[in-house]
Amino acid sequence: MIQTLVEWFSVVQGWLFQSAILPFLYATGLGDVTEEAFTGTEWFLLGVVELAMLYLLLRPLEAWIPAKPDIDPKARRIDFLYTCIHRLGAFTVAVFFLLDPLFDAVASQLHMSGITHFDVEHLWPGVTDMPLVSFGIYLVVLDFFDYWYHRASHQFDWWWGLHSLHHSQTDMNLWSDNRNHLLDDLLRDVYLAVVAMVIGVEPAQYVLLIVASRMLQSLQHANVRLHFGRIGERLLVSPRYHRTHHAIGVGHETDGAGTLGGHNFAVLFPIWDIVFGTALFSSKFETVGVRDQLPAPLGEGRNYGRGFWEQQWLGLKRMVEFTRRKPG
Ligand SMILES: [Zn+2]
Ligand SMILES: [Zn+2]
Repeated sequence: MIQTLVEWFSVVQGWLFQSAILPFLYATGLGDVTEEAFTGTEWFLLGVVELAMLYLLLRPLEAWIPAKPDIDPKARRIDFLYTCIHRLGAFTVAVFFLLDPLFDAVASQLHMSGITHFDVEHLWPGVTDMPLVSFGIYLVVLDFFDYWYHRASHQFDWWWGLHSLHHSQTDMNLWSDNRNHLLDDLLRDVYLAVVAMVIGVEPAQYVLLIVASRMLQSLQHANVRLHFGRIGERLLVSPRYHRTHHAIGVGHETDGAGTLGGHNFAVLFPIWDIVFGTALFSSKFETVGVRDQLPAPLGEGRNYGRGFWEQQWLGLKRMVEFTRRKPG
């Protein structure tokens, strides 16, 4: 079954590449990037399959057990646009494949100086080089670094200026995972690609790691009244657990006065929140958003924008404004 799907996928990839991408590249004088374009085609198709699967699995669930009734269809449409830009735009792959040659150059330089980079697969020969084992290790290691990236984006004012765009969605839905500032996306993709290269992830495996991770992240943002039970909640980030992170005055503020801090920064595995003291296992499905977007006197009625470009522009403005903010 899986074999047939993979073969079918390769046929479609080959056909799309031969009949559309390649003629376009030659017509525009870009014949020397055919290899990258072939990989880009794979990412694009994986994105299409992923989006179709998410819609078919999560949309009925959202209609069946919504955490918030009456989601604004416009909010959902904008978030879908974000998802298309990030997951079909080969954003992540571009970063990885642009950095790969650079990293090779750095690695060979280090090798000549007698230093080799860390390689997870050679840790325990016969065990860590089994594909499933190394896949699991890579997923956990990348997630550890993702936890700190996410936590830092709440810690530093300028960074929060960008990341608050993600948190400003009051109608969280299955497409909200990609509602981010493009600059923040770029930083995170470069960061994760560098970590992946340093620990020796092969490009083919990186593709699968990213797809697995982002599908789980879409589930976490879906508007569903769903949790994984007492033990499950501690093993994998659930929609309820991540909703607590998005909750006003709970997940990303600690003292009710706007001081940044918060809970549930883990991206896939709550273990990092448990170990570093930021876990909060609430049984509630909280109201989500950012405090300052609430009307006065609860907030300042701050506008985070309705459309894509307005949201991006206001994100940059917040970044500058928050950088200048006086502490205390
Ligand atoms: Zn956050
Ligand atoms: Zn989120």
